[in-house]
Amino acid sequence: MNIRISFRNASKSYDVRNGTFTALDQVSLDIFDREFVTVVGPSGCGKSTLMAMAAGLVEPSSGQVLVGGEPVTGPGPDRGVIFQQYALFPWLTVRKNVEFGLRLARLGKAEVRERAERAIELVGLSDFADTLPKALSGGMKQRCAIARAYAVDPHVLLMDEPFGALDALTRVQLQDRLLDTWSRDQRTVMFITHDVDEAVYLAGRVIVMATKPGRLLKVIDVDLPYPRTEEIRLSSAFSRIRGEVWRSVYHQPDAAPAI
Ligand code: ADP
Repeated sequence: MNIRISFRNASKSYDVRNGTFTALDQVSLDIFDREFVTVVGPSGCGKSTLMAMAAGLVEPSSGQVLVGGEPVTGPGPDRGVIFQQYALFPWLTVRKNVEFGLRLARLGKAEVRERAERAIELVGLSDFADTLPKALSGGMKQRCAIARAYAVDPHVLLMDEPFGALDALTRVQLQDRLLDTWSRDQRTVMFITHDVDEAVYLAGRVIVMATKPGRLLKVIDVDLPYPRTEEIRLSSAFSRIRGEVWRSVYHQPDAAPAI
């Protein structure tokens, strides 16, 4: 299997008033092509920093981050980034929001239209293509943000608590929709969450991080088949893995509540 994202002894420290603060300490981790990994850990363990390094938004202080075998030097169209705050342009319709990213990619008009159309369809928003964000529910806004990232056709999706602000039911629906899309296009997904259930339900591997300093604690294989179903979610195998992830996250000394 090809490695898509590679963290090699990647560290990040910040200068603070009384010295340096290590946000991430020597993370080494390979994420494979078409893999779906989730990242969990107590608040402040460096989850967002790790993802931002892959996105090219934060530069490692030492070590290296490679995507597709190349050192990351900044953001690029090969990586779509989705945050909890939908970051939609309020004055643009769903279609125009999705087309926006494509325009930056300097594609022709017809191609922009077609790709946007496809991405909007993929997330089930075709009936709302000409709607402004203010008229959409939280779940629909997030689907629009996902469509915008998808439209650019990135190899990698980097998702930082994308469903964190949504109610439980919407969240479960979006998890299934995301897995459904992923099973068809098999992009590499790195997905940060605070929710242990969500982490196990989505992933092939769960990356557990620890604090003080922020670091990789362990990687837990989720030995459950895809497609994931309600039956799997309610199975004893699922509970066992969830228990293991839960203990790894919450039985850390000094673990701050994960909110
Ligand atoms: P998480 O996503 O796991 O909550 P973050 O990656 O957001 O963790 O942050 C890791 C640590 O780095 C936190 O303690 C945070 O306060 C610190 N941090 C993040 N950005 C900066 C910055 N620009 N300057 C100083 N500290 C920072």
